[in-house]
Amino acid sequence: MRHFPDRPGRADRLVVLGGKPQRTPGAVWLVGAGPGDPELLTIKALKALERAEVVVHDGLVSDEILRLAPEGARRISVAKRKSRHSYSQDEINRMLVAFALEGLTVVRLKGGDPFIFGRGGEELEACREAGVVCHVVPGVTAALAAGASAGAPLTHRGSAQAVTFVTGHAAQGAEPDLDWQGLAKANHTVVVYMGLSMAAPIAARLMAAGRDPSTPALIVENASRADERRVVTTLAGLAEAAASLAGPALLVVGEAMALAQAGGAELQTLLKEARA
Ligand code: SAH
Repeated sequence: MRHFPDRPGRADRLVVLGGKPQRTPGAVWLVGAGPGDPELLTIKALKALERAEVVVHDGLVSDEILRLAPEGARRISVAKRKSRHSYSQDEINRMLVAFALEGLTVVRLKGGDPFIFGRGGEELEACREAGVVCHVVPGVTAALAAGASAGAPLTHRGSAQAVTFVTGHAAQGAEPDLDWQGLAKANHTVVVYMGLSMAAPIAARLMAAGRDPSTPALIVENASRADERRVVTTLAGLAEAAASLAGPALLVVGEAMALAQAGGAELQTLLKEARA
């Protein structure tokens, strides 16, 4: 009888029959990075970043936040770029799944909250379809930071019984198809994401649907960042105010914006120093 000294034992054979070496399964963490200020990251987001082996991030995430990931972690920007190749959503989905199937801990880092105009839902679905575990860590969405900086509550007893988040952006630069009648109701705050370049048609639609042109409005650019700027205006003045800003910015329309304070981070610091 022949002797096979290196013949694998039963357990090893089972692995061989499985076809692939055993790996610890990876996972995708869909993490909200908040509006920009690193102090607005959640502790859970920070912990996820600290464990990341790959960080796939978009353009709204600051370097200060990216530095919180381990030095050795691979950082991949999937930001929309005009000149260079930008990744399609499908490519991003496939990238996340592929890294996780390699056994890596992948952090998909997104500005604000992953589920507020962040396409996080599509990434979650891609993971589910591929059998990849996906954890979601919520983040402070830009609207909350904008209201906080301006000192204007998004809901307010007596002047804002509801708040609605809408996108001002539709496919191929078309006007968004929104419920203008509903958005024109008084005592209701409307926050428009991605609406800066569409401020004129959005304001016109709201007024045409009956919203009072004198309704207070606020635009916040770079909310919570060092270069934050806030412009306080009215619905009638929204388009003109928007024209002076580059974004990222939010348009906020509603009676409660009467409480909003204009200015920028620099101005606030100067005022604070002057008072001290
Ligand atoms: N998921 C993000 C939104 C992504 S959509 C969130 O929850 O905040 C991108 C839009 O968000 C921008 O066009 C802008 O309208 C808004 N935005 C994101 N960060 C912002 C910031 N720091 N200040 C003002 N607007 C911001």
